[in-house]
Amino acid sequence: MSVTLQFLGAARTVTGSKFLVTCGGQRTLVDCGLFQGMKPLRLRNWSPLPVDPATINAVVVTHAHLDHCGYLPRLARQGFRGPVYCSVASAELIGLLLPDSGHLQEESARFANKKGFSKHQPALPLYTEEEGREALKQLRPIDYGRATDLGGGVSIVLHPAGHILGSAFVEMNAGGVRVVFSGDLGAYDRVVMQPPAPLPQDADYVLIESTYGGRRQDHRPVQEQMRERIAPVLRAGGIVIIPSFAIGRSTLVLYHLRQLMERAELPQAPIYIDSPMATDAVEIYCRFAGEHNLRPDLLRDAHLCPIRPQTARLVRSVEESKRLNDLKGPAIIVAASGMATGGRVVHHLHRRLPCRENLVLLVGYQAIGTRGRSLLEGAEKVRIFGEDVKVNAQVAAINGLSAHGDTDDLVRWLRTASRPPQRTFLVHGEEEGLAAMARKAGELRFPHATPDYLAEATLT
Ligand SMILES: [Zn+2]
Repeated sequence: MSVTLQFLGAARTVTGSKFLVTCGGQRTLVDCGLFQGMKPLRLRNWSPLPVDPATINAVVVTHAHLDHCGYLPRLARQGFRGPVYCSVASAELIGLLLPDSGHLQEESARFANKKGFSKHQPALPLYTEEEGREALKQLRPIDYGRATDLGGGVSIVLHPAGHILGSAFVEMNAGGVRVVFSGDLGAYDRVVMQPPAPLPQDADYVLIESTYGGRRQDHRPVQEQMRERIAPVLRAGGIVIIPSFAIGRSTLVLYHLRQLMERAELPQAPIYIDSPMATDAVEIYCRFAGEHNLRPDLLRDAHLCPIRPQTARLVRSVEESKRLNDLKGPAIIVAASGMATGGRVVHHLHRRLPCRENLVLLVGYQAIGTRGRSLLEGAEKVRIFGEDVKVNAQVAAINGLSAHGDTDDLVRWLRTASRPPQRTFLVHGEEEGLAAMARKAGELRFPHATPDYLAEATLT
């Protein structure tokens, strides 16, 4: 049976993960992510998928990040009617993520139309909250470690990837060929997440993400870095803005803030968690207690919950969020999105960037072309709501909070292979990360390739 693999996304870039496996008559899409960052990439979300979605039999999603699952409502709109397999925890998190993503897109389209700064008349959302919710009906949660038959000679097994709650790497058997899709991989020594499971025996092909392929995490303790940056700003009465995805990373940020405040290494300033999803995330951590390192008895305790600082306040409604515009420091605001490409954090940046006593603390990967990346690279102004906003606030990045493994972690995971795969495909990385991973694969004597967008490979 002929088996082909086509790279419909995350090829020479870190977003838009989509890998199509065609095995005889069975077509399976692994991940269904949005492109983010540079405009030519984002435009791909708007053009029809290069393959007719109605011909795809099933989708497998590795985890609840938009660059891996955020395209699902678009796929459905273009005629995909099949099941979407993912882990049980991922299904919960995607259940929060997709409607929220649609909601945010509707909100920004409305805002663009009101202010009249969009080049498109009228500005449209990529999909609506309703379409985000509709797409959830196709989710088929499956347990880790159990083979699921997709029909047509294709089966899959999900294994824990240690990246975020529910994250999985996919072991696929397609007509006797064994392919592993890493999704995003976590690190080996983390406070919240457990390490990734080893590679299954005798994988023929491995696709490995390379986001941090070229980097070693700063092993200076995260809390030391946070204290150094945040403490002076709070003492001076400033406001710290932390752009962060509502899921996973904000949990980690809150964990560290709680510890720092408990030890009085940071002043007791209010922390506003400005996200409609924030509380649900804590509940989900409670429910999936076996999949992380946090103690369930503490999680359930209002006072001792390790991921809820005493000064934390949840901001759910848009009105409450808007009221934060009048907030006087010292305070910390945590709001999505992590790369400041959308979400409530954009409003906060618009309001707080011009003041030099404030701090923007970047805690995750910032893809090329995002506002977060511009800030990280020291831009003097950034474009927000059609205006040039002057960056007088301080900008700093914390290393070691990423949910991704670094180069050492990625190599450590590759080394768990029982033998070199026939080929290792380097995906989900920018130039530097991909080049570094190519060198590492070479050192391991793993035959490897870095596929281009839309490239096809025959698997034997
Ligand atoms: Zn991810």
